[in-house]
Amino acid sequence: MDPSSRVRTLRIATPTAASGLRRLLAVPATLRSSEYMSVGTSARFRAHQRRRTVAAARTGFLVIAGAAVFDGILLGDGHPALALQLLLLNGTVAVLGVAGWWLLGRRLRHWPDPVAAAVTLALTAATASTGLIIPALAIESAGYLILIPVIVTLILPWSTTTHIRWMAGSALLAIGYLVVAPSIALSADVRSSLIVVNLVAHGASLSGHVLLQLAAIRNFSQVRKITQLRRRADAAMHELAGVHRRLEETAATDPLTGARNRLRLAEDLRVARARMERLGDSHGLIAFDLDRFKQINDEFGHLAGDDVLKAVVRAARSAIRTDEEVYRFGGEEFLILVRAHDEHGLRTVTERLRAAIEALAIPHPANTPHGVVTASFGATLILAADLGTSDDEWLARADVALFGAKDAGRNQVVIAA
Ligand code: GH3
Ligand code: MG
Ligand code: MG
Repeated sequence: MDPSSRVRTLRIATPTAASGLRRLLAVPATLRSSEYMSVGTSARFRAHQRRRTVAAARTGFLVIAGAAVFDGILLGDGHPALALQLLLLNGTVAVLGVAGWWLLGRRLRHWPDPVAAAVTLALTAATASTGLIIPALAIESAGYLILIPVIVTLILPWSTTTHIRWMAGSALLAIGYLVVAPSIALSADVRSSLIVVNLVAHGASLSGHVLLQLAAIRNFSQVRKITQLRRRADAAMHELAGVHRRLEETAATDPLTGARNRLRLAEDLRVARARMERLGDSHGLIAFDLDRFKQINDEFGHLAGDDVLKAVVRAARSAIRTDEEVYRFGGEEFLILVRAHDEHGLRTVTERLRAAIEALAIPHPANTPHGVVTASFGATLILAADLGTSDDEWLARADVALFGAKDAGRNQVVIAA
């Protein structure tokens, strides 16, 4: 079964107070919960928001155009002169409404806010000027002047700051209109009606804005819940990754000494091969074995022998780079893989290792003539030309050199020919 089909579908709270409009919009109002996970970042979510904005704005402008036509038919009934004036006003509004509907549909996909604002301002300006030219229509003009921004505010899912700017702008426009309006001969009655219209319209826009913000808050709390869930899932993933890392570490580590094991050596040799193939550089493979170690166990006991192994690994680690490793190959034999340019460099690092173990000065009377724990070293330089030979052959080369060091009297370094 496809696991995504089990994802619960969540309903998005559309941030518009005109919820009835939503049914008119041919826009999917739901997002899958998986899409919610990337709210704010996913291109799909943003595209969804844009589609909804376009559809909401288009519907709003159709409503304006429809209202204008209806208004003209109703008010002009029986008064031919007034009907003509109304036809002029409402015709302009209707044409601009349809133009807005068309423009918004085409352009809003890219620039939602500026285009919606420009179209609405054009509508508003046309209405205002008609009202000023035809004093009889001043009240109706004032109504439209406020109604248009109100409708836009109600339908567009803008941010709070944009809403506040928009409402402040429309309020300024209305105030300006009221300042200019008295210069045209308006009766006291008309002017007071105008003020009432203005107040009612602003009340309506304020409530519309509050409703919008409530919807936005509802959306926000949903998004916040999802963010919390996501953070918890991230934390769980992080913990799991940590456990996985520790498990991998354990599987690659020798429990007694903390050195890496043969499993890890095989893996690191693969990485070294890839590096050599890519960069053509060379490596050094160093094998070492503690001298007369059996006698430590015999003399001081197995536990003391264990402690010596731990101390030796610590000393070896301190003598190599932090990104290089000590591998326990068996009993008291170890391997180290280092980056080395040439035989001289390899000899230097191997000699440093030998000296570091001797410098531990762990008493070992049977290890004559030194009297302290020492180790014998065999090393081999691996060049890009050696990529054709197997890991085992490389190991055998280091091992042969190690036997050479034992034969030559122990506590010394032999580099394979
Ligand atoms: P040589 O100098 O020739 O290497 O002599 P050696 O005594 O070190 O060589 P040999 O291989 O005979 O002895 C290795 C001893 O290492 C035998 C075994 O008891 C001991 N050994 C191997 N693994 C461990 C371990 O994990 N702990 C302890 N304490 N001893 C171990
Ligand atoms: Mg040994
Ligand atoms: Mg041995």
